[in-house]
Amino acid sequence: MGSAAQEARGALAGRVAVVTGGGRGIGHAIATTLAQQGADVALLDLLPDVAAVADQLGESTGRRCTGVLADVTDADAIAAAFDTVADRLGEPDALVNAAGIANNTPAHETDPAVFRRVIDINLTGTYLVCRELGRRLVAAGRPGSIVNISSMSGHIVNLPQPQAAYNASKAGVAMLTKSLAIEWAPHGIRVNSVAPGYVVTDMTRQVIEAQPERSAQWLRRTPIGRLGTPDDIAPAVAFLLSDAAAFVLGHDLVIDGGYTIV
Ligand code: NAP
Repeated sequence: MGSAAQEARGALAGRVAVVTGGGRGIGHAIATTLAQQGADVALLDLLPDVAAVADQLGESTGRRCTGVLADVTDADAIAAAFDTVADRLGEPDALVNAAGIANNTPAHETDPAVFRRVIDINLTGTYLVCRELGRRLVAAGRPGSIVNISSMSGHIVNLPQPQAAYNASKAGVAMLTKSLAIEWAPHGIRVNSVAPGYVVTDMTRQVIEAQPERSAQWLRRTPIGRLGTPDDIAPAVAFLLSDAAAFVLGHDLVIDGGYTIV
């Protein structure tokens, strides 16, 4: 297809994308942008009404969208979810891992089960879903692309909240991304990550509402003078998934309004 025709259809036309955590927040904004750029999109989430959210996305974008309930920590559930997506939309060749949880407790008071849960969802979950797409693409000899949502917390220690488990999980996601990028480059599968700064979603809204002095501190340390929105993150993810980023591998793109520079 010529580049003008491709542009007209959208940079992601013909792609089938899975977005974990796509039911709300950053994942949902990403799913919306991918559909707007021509991809058919599956939302893989724990949100009970994920099917209805996907139907609405399909209506608003004109793309085929589907919602599948699955826990990213459950390898069998992920395999079944990918089978469902393949039946409904065709075999996926794009993946965004946005499912994640945060935890703010002092390290010396954190229940080991809580620490493990954060690592299990944010890091192991990301690996398990990458693994599922990777093994399907390698077996089929097909190319694809993956973007994992890491965090600026994989680069810096956030203040003032204590979140050692979260920070460690996100540093792990960035290194996992680089490792998979190198292993799968010979198979034509590109893996990158995007590292957001503070973005207003349900995850951060609780803090903004309950502890305004905490979010005021975030704001003071953000040179651009505002917190991010999910729409600040989504276009970069779409770019990294697309062929426009054909030579970009293992990159962790920080999008933080300048927070980590100063
Ligand atoms: P959010 O609004 O809380 O959304 C997270 C989504 O992930 C929810 O739909 C949630 O479903 C889903 N999820 C959680 N655990 C899951 C599991 N085990 N299996 C499947 N789905 C699961 O969070 P967000 O702020 O959009 O964050 C999205 C990603 O960006 C996360 O990885 C987060 O760490 C990262 N991030 C966020 C910020 C920020 O400032 N917001 C900054 C840097 C990085 P349920 O609600 O049904 O559990």
